Amino acid sequence: MRLTAEETARAAAFFTEGIARRVSRPVRLMEVCGTHTVAIFRSGIRQLLPASVELVSGPGCPVCVTPNEYLDTAIAYSRRPDTIITTFGDMLKVPGSDSTLMAEKARGADIRIVYSPLESLPVARDNPGKKVIFLAVGFETTAPTAAATVLQAEQQGLDNFLVLSAHKLVPPALQTILSAPDGKVDGFLLPGHAAAISGLEPYRFVAETYQVPAVVTGFEALDILQAIYILIEQLAGGKAELANQYRRVVKPEGNPSARKILEQVYQPAAANWRGFGGIDGSGLALRPEYRHFDAQTRLPLDNVVTREPAGCRCGEVLRGLIVPDACPHFGRSCTPEQPVGACMVSVEGACAAWYKYGQGR
Ligand code: SF4
Repeated sequence: MRLTAEETARAAAFFTEGIARRVSRPVRLMEVCGTHTVAIFRSGIRQLLPASVELVSGPGCPVCVTPNEYLDTAIAYSRRPDTIITTFGDMLKVPGSDSTLMAEKARGADIRIVYSPLESLPVARDNPGKKVIFLAVGFETTAPTAAATVLQAEQQGLDNFLVLSAHKLVPPALQTILSAPDGKVDGFLLPGHAAAISGLEPYRFVAETYQVPAVVTGFEALDILQAIYILIEQLAGGKAELANQYRRVVKPEGNPSARKILEQVYQPAAANWRGFGGIDGSGLALRPEYRHFDAQTRLPLDNVVTREPAGCRCGEVLRGLIVPDACPHFGRSCTPEQPVGACMVSVEGACAAWYKYGQGR
């Protein structure tokens, strides 16, 4: 049931007054997920919170955390005459070291936007003389569909379908933030859709090992306000627990069927994250029995030269160390029309959200 605007406003006032009463010191909460970042801006939650409650964005925007080396590899593949690239649309504008997929498409590269990895299979079937490479970017939420696509390609005997995997897992990035000497997060709003697949267990360490409260959170304004309220109550009471605000969707055990497909096709592997560097066990690599679908195994590339954009502080934004307008490029040399870094490209990027919704409070 959806609330009316008036009911929502009354409920919001109730929560924010309660929050203001309970905060006795400045607290820093991280909304891990890019979808939460956008929902927080769109619903004006930042303006509702007392000044002592700071919200910082985290590493949960899949396009943003994909490093330039991946983009440069994808661009190098797109330049080959024997390939077709399939990708989600928001990868097109992300700047690589010296080009974008959009620029390569304009120059004639065969790059096709898909809304599901499964759409790559008919492309592969219709183009047997080409290698069709799907740019597999995303977290626990999207990886099961990519895994199902690999299984279907196997069933259909499509050996010209390949995957360039940059799938990532959220919990290892949180562990990196929590163990970093420069990070200070008092509580986490955890991504409801990733937890809907993984379940609660992978997030338990946040509270149990690091004594930081964490709440798995839905995406409506009231979900987020309630989750903030739960975090503040825990902090006020000196508690650190893992709570599930999004019980209508997230089961403690997650989605075992999706996880089974994922675990059949992929295994955890080290992965590079923009702003974090390499994190052990934070990526997903195709298991040996499916490695013939791996683009880098089947079509190795030499000498992909890569560098991060000069002055871009996207990495610090993704670790919650700065807010976007602390970057000197923000709103000047970096805008959604002319992005310098990935965080200004994706609709879920913190810089793009700050720009679109008017810079925070
Ligand atoms: Fe990078 Fe642009 Fe964000 Fe600055 S404003 S951190 S250059 S994406």
